[in-house]
Order: sequence, then C-alpha cells, then structure tokens
Amino acid sequence: DTSGLAPAQADLEAQGIDVVRLGYSDIIGTDRGRDVLVNRFGRTVGGGVAFCRSVYGTTPGGGVVDIDGGMNAGLPDVVAFPVLETMQPVPWEPGVAHCIADVFNPDGSPSQESPRQVLKRVVEQFAELGMSPICGPELEFYVLEPNEKAPNGWARYGEATGNVYVSGLRGDPENVLLSSLRQLGDYGLEVVAANHEFSSGQFEINLWHSDALDSADRAHRFKAAVKELARKLGKLATFMAKPFNDEGGSGFHIHFSMWSDDGAALFDDPDSADGLSQVAHWAIGGILAHAPALAALHNPTINSFKRFGPDTLAPWLIDWGLDNRSAMVRIPPERGKASRLELRLGDASANPYLATASLLAAAYLGVRDKIEPAEPLVGYGYDPERSEMLPTTLSAALDALEADTELRDVLGDVFVKTFLTYKRDEINRFQSFITDWEFAEYTYHL
Ligand code: GLU
Ligand code: MG
Ligand code: MG
Repeated sequence: DTSGLAPAQADLEAQGIDVVRLGYSDIIGTDRGRDVLVNRFGRTVGGGVAFCRSVYGTTPGGGVVDIDGGMNAGLPDVVAFPVLETMQPVPWEPGVAHCIADVFNPDGSPSQESPRQVLKRVVEQFAELGMSPICGPELEFYVLEPNEKAPNGWARYGEATGNVYVSGLRGDPENVLLSSLRQLGDYGLEVVAANHEFSSGQFEINLWHSDALDSADRAHRFKAAVKELARKLGKLATFMAKPFNDEGGSGFHIHFSMWSDDGAALFDDPDSADGLSQVAHWAIGGILAHAPALAALHNPTINSFKRFGPDTLAPWLIDWGLDNRSAMVRIPPERGKASRLELRLGDASANPYLATASLLAAAYLGVRDKIEPAEPLVGYGYDPERSEMLPTTLSAALDALEADTELRDVLGDVFVKTFLTYKRDEINRFQSFITDWEFAEYTYHL
C-alpha cells in the first residue's frame, strides 16, 4: 500500500526534512539502507527500493557469503518498503528522518530471511493464540576512544574512573552517556534510564516496554544511534559481547510479558505459590527446553561464548530463578500487571529482531506444548552439578539450532538455513586465522 507516501512527503517537507534514511536490519543487525531525497520520496519509494540479496550475506569485512538464493542465483533483488509509522526525525542530523523498511521479494511475498519479517511471523503465531507479547530491552555496551598504546588502537573511555552505578563525571568524564541519553530520548526510543556498568567505559541503557515488534524496532535503532552518537564525539561504541579479557561482557536482557486481547496480564496469578500463572510457567519451560538453540540467536558470535562463566552475572547454566541474577531466566519480584520474566541469556551483539523472535518462539512452543519447567534455582547459580550447561561454542549452538526442528518451524526454515550458512562461514574464516593468543602461546617455548 503506497497511498500514504504523498501525504508523508508533504508532511516531511513541512517539518524541514529533506532526506529520508530508509534502513532495515541485515542478518547481524547492522542497519543497512539508502538515503532518499524527500523531493523524490513518493516516486522513488512508491514501487519499493531495490537492493541485491547481498544484504543478507555481507560480512562486516565486506565479503559476500554464498547464502542460498544469493550469488548462486545471480544475486537477485529484494525490495524495501518504508513502514511509515516508524518515520522519526534524527535529532543530531538536522534535515534527516530515519524510517524502518520491510523487505519483500519482487513477487510481493515477505522476504523470509529478513529479521523483521521473522519476528512478525512469530508475533502472528501468538496472535492466533489470542496473546500479545510485550518486551522491554536492556542493552549494555562499551565506549572506547583512540589510544596509540592500546593493543587494538582503542582504550576504554574514562579508564579507571568508573564503577557500577557511579553517576556523573566520575564514570562519564565527558558526559558521553548523559548527552546520548538526551539525544536518544528525543529520537523517540522511549529510553527509561542510563547507568554506568561494572567496568570502566561500560554503560547500560534501558528502553521502556512495548509490543514485541515496536520494542525490537527501537532496540535496533538504539544500537545504530549509540554508535552514531559516539562516532560524532570521536569515540567507538561497541556492542561486542566480550571485548576485554579481564572485564565483564555486555548483556542484552529482554523483559517479557504476555497480554490477552482484552488487556489481561497473562503471566500473573495472585493465587499461585509464586504469583506466576500456568502460562508463565509454560513459557519458562519452553525457553529452558529450547535454550541451546536460542543461544545461536542470542549469542551469535564466536566471541559471545567468552561472556559466559561463573560469577559473571551472565548465565552459564540453563535455569530460572525468582529474582536471581545468576539464572538464565530471572523473575523480577513485581507481580500484578508487572509480572514478567527477564531473559538474561543474550549478549549485546545479538540482532534485536532475532533475539526477540527466538525468545517468543521458544515461549510459544512452551505454551503450545505445555512444557513444565524444572524447579527454580535457589541461591548460588554457578554450580554445574545443578543444571545442564549452555553451549560453550558458537558451533555447538548452531548445531543445536539446526537440530531443533520445532523452533525452526516457528522461525521459518528458509531464514534458519541462511543464518546457519552465514554463521558457519564466520566460523570457517576464524578457524584459519592466526590469533595474537596463539602467537604469544606458541612462539617462545615451542
Ligand atoms: N554484564 C552482565 C551480562 O553480561 C550483566 C550485568 C548486570 O546484571 O547488569 O549479562
Ligand atoms: Mg546491567
Ligand atoms: Mg537486566
């Protein structure tokens, strides 16, 4: 439907917007797209904006992975259409509005590899059960600054000045966090709060909850925006899972609740022993049962698995607990309309659409198959005798995703195949690359 384009163009012009940045998520969550002049908007965008399918196969280094239907099919088109209700002026780039696009095949069918389409597909399956998932994302990240002495040319911003929850200039000497918080707020991201994390140069910003698609849209935009804002200040913001050996990783926690069509909080039950409903228990059961496959999408890099471990506040085992931050699924203490779970599995490198889609897919299977979770964790959570462990490598997580046919069905098999191809290419490239660690370990004594 392109009927909204002409009014949208007039409206943008009236606001002084001359460029629309049409963006959408690729497989790894990078915002890709094109800048379109507003005076061409109606005409350019009316038939969709065409891109070649390399958008799904391009690596951070610019290589093109041979996904199915990619180079082996002559790299045909996909077509992006703006989702006009996501149009949002960019506060720090006057004259520019960002608009999220949905990606389709030239025949008009949804592009099955598109992460946003994958999420929409899962939300639709919940809608058939009469349930709406609500999500609230929390993302951690590091801010780095150029430093000739640092091993990779980047040192942590504010090194040695910050610690968890310190506020003000002690941990944020140039107000990078403070200025970002304001700009992100003006960008319609519904940011709630920003705080310093456990390591110097590490921060967290929480976004308000909303329906799953909107929350993933905002998390996607948030990640791109944080990187842009840091770059404007000559810094590098990174959502890499675990950038430093001796510092904590960066998590991507998702708070999740379920609502009925008539507005009832479906995870709440004041009459049950723990205050959670049967549906909540089934959702937790599904998340635990499908956790090894979920790790492929919540922990999607080789580096991701270095974040897990005892005493990290990241999970290590597949478990759940009542207000327990060492569990993979934490149940925050509030009940009533605030009854929810917090999945702490994901790291910040996860694609928000795919992390959200796979969380919902696992919960959906839990509800559909009435999966009861094991007893909740009480006390210290890092005792490997207690529960099954999460996969310890990306390769193992990808194998678990490949083997999880039920989750694959909910997410869409075409997408899962593309994801596996893309990620196995990443592993292959890493396997044949000589790292600094090997050089240090093997040159002197051997
Ligand atoms: N950084 C931890 C993680 O990787 C989380 C710390 C926290 O709970 O704020 O998940
Ligand atoms: Mg945190
Ligand atoms: Mg959290």
